[in-house]
Amino acid sequence: QFITFEGGEGAGKTSILHSLNKKLSDLGFDVLATREPGGIEIAEKIRKIILDPENTEMEKRTEALLFAAARRQHLIQKVLPALKAGKIVLCDRFIDSSLAYQGHAQGLGIDEVFTINQFAIKDCMPDLTLFFDIEPKKGLERISANKDRERNRLDMEKVYFHEQVYDGYQILADRFPDRIHTINADQTIEQVEKAVLNYIISFLQK
Ligand code: C5P
Ligand code: MG
Repeated sequence: QFITFEGGEGAGKTSILHSLNKKLSDLGFDVLATREPGGIEIAEKIRKIILDPENTEMEKRTEALLFAAARRQHLIQKVLPALKAGKIVLCDRFIDSSLAYQGHAQGLGIDEVFTINQFAIKDCMPDLTLFFDIEPKKGLERISANKDRERNRLDMEKVYFHEQVYDGYQILADRFPDRIHTINADQTIEQVEKAVLNYIISFLQK
């Protein structure tokens, strides 16, 4: 099963993905945890180009194509082989990030960005997507409180941009209700973790 974690900055996706990986593995599930953009060497290199603070001249469509290119390589080299081997794949971000960030917030259009991503992934959509729902302001406060977090070019976007991203995710959650499940991420990390674990376990038992 292919499960993706989505949402804005500071929603807790990354920390919870790692703790969940451990919990599910302890319960005997065969799990692979990975992330986007990145997860394999070529895609991590593309990630560096996208996030490099010096690349201020990066154009929106170029950026969208680079995200899609990294996605393709990561899918082919890592995600699909793991799914084929029967693993549960937990992925930090996937196509919905592109739809929310580049499609909606950057204004390229959700449908247009969907089209280039269809080229990249063909029909390999996630079986389940968890949308970590938290008001952008609160998420950004969490990030600025976390001194250890790596900073990148796209973290410098304004609050308004993150509100647009949030808006984009809500549009996607309405559009794909069978695939996207919303998790209230405005709770303690332990509470969110518990909600995610319970939901994934009931999903896997379906
Ligand atoms: O998930 P993570 O925080 O590591 O993502 C790295 C950066 O890339 C973040 O600043 C995020 O906002 C940005 N991003 C983006 N568009 C995507 C995926 C991530 O702007 N499609
Ligand atoms: Mg993260």
